[in-house]
Amino acid sequence: MDGRLPPRLVVPAGGIGGARFLRGLLDVAPPGAEITVIGNTGDDIWLHGLRVCPDLDTVMYTLGGGISDERGWGREDETFTVKDELAAYGVEPTWFGLGDRDIATHLVRTRMLQAGYPLSAVTEALCTRWQPGVRLLPMSDERAETHVVVDDPDGTVGEDGQPQRRALHFQEWWVRYRAALPAHEIVLVGAQETRPAPGVLEAIAAADAIILPPSNPVVSIGTILQVSGMRQALLDSPAPIVGVSPIIGGRPVRGMADACLEAIGVETSAGAVGAHYGARTSGGILDGWLVDEVDAPVEIPGVTVTSLPLLMSDPAATGRIAAAALDLAERLHR
Ligand code: GDP
Ligand code: CA
Repeated sequence: MDGRLPPRLVVPAGGIGGARFLRGLLDVAPPGAEITVIGNTGDDIWLHGLRVCPDLDTVMYTLGGGISDERGWGREDETFTVKDELAAYGVEPTWFGLGDRDIATHLVRTRMLQAGYPLSAVTEALCTRWQPGVRLLPMSDERAETHVVVDDPDGTVGEDGQPQRRALHFQEWWVRYRAALPAHEIVLVGAQETRPAPGVLEAIAAADAIILPPSNPVVSIGTILQVSGMRQALLDSPAPIVGVSPIIGGRPVRGMADACLEAIGVETSAGAVGAHYGARTSGGILDGWLVDEVDAPVEIPGVTVTSLPLLMSDPAATGRIAAAALDLAERLHR
């Protein structure tokens, strides 16, 4: 970002936190800026024969003007007739809220996947309708899904008298059980077989700045980092990497990120999450870290830390956070 050319920005993102931040970033980015989003697909799931990609859709609907602002996910003016009808048939799972409008997206996606298109091409096709203003790439075209190892919720006990462990799909743990079952482990099943989707590595290599939005550090950003070669690509990039803390005052603001952090042994604090990402000078992925004023001072050796209000309460506040991330990246540009 030498001020002469519109910058190329790369943002690895989850769902709600990532999408809201991106809306602010689009408001304040210089004219002509190219924003490439690397979307988390570890949350993806097959439901009733449909391929559902919650985080890609949250970004697409939020930036395309179709999101339910009240819920933060799914479509506005949504109805749930199909969901109710499926429940009337007693068909499981009943705990996932597939809306009628939303189902059209999953029908298009599933049909294209079954016709042999990779997820990246499907996502591009869906985005021709929504025009999100960013280039939205899935982290990978290969399937890899996050699972959470818990004590069997049905209470099954093994021969040793100990509770039997079971791996639940992330969505079942998150949506059905509200992350209330203590997680022994969070695993991206299939991670070894993944490769970054077409365009991802090129975007990282050409980036002027890489911004980590306040997405879940474990099951959004942490998942993206597990795609083969992704972490190394970030380490190799000459662009500054600036992150925004998803934790304010020891709380995840929205959602249950604290349950995910506990599973990987990281304290729920802005400092601990920044230290978990780590300084690039010592093999981590951060050059800069934005924390909320209530969390300052935070010190992470090798990382430039700045504090400002980080609550994305309205578009103006979110724009100020995005602008601060861009300013810090500009300062750290080598
Ligand atoms: P998800 O995939 O829908 O869970 O969304 P993300 O992973 O992109 O983001 C979820 C995270 O956003 C949560 O864990 C929160 O910590 C964070 N978050 C939500 N709202 C805010 C906010 O207003 N400010 C900040 N700093 N973080 C937020
Ligand atoms: Ca998610």
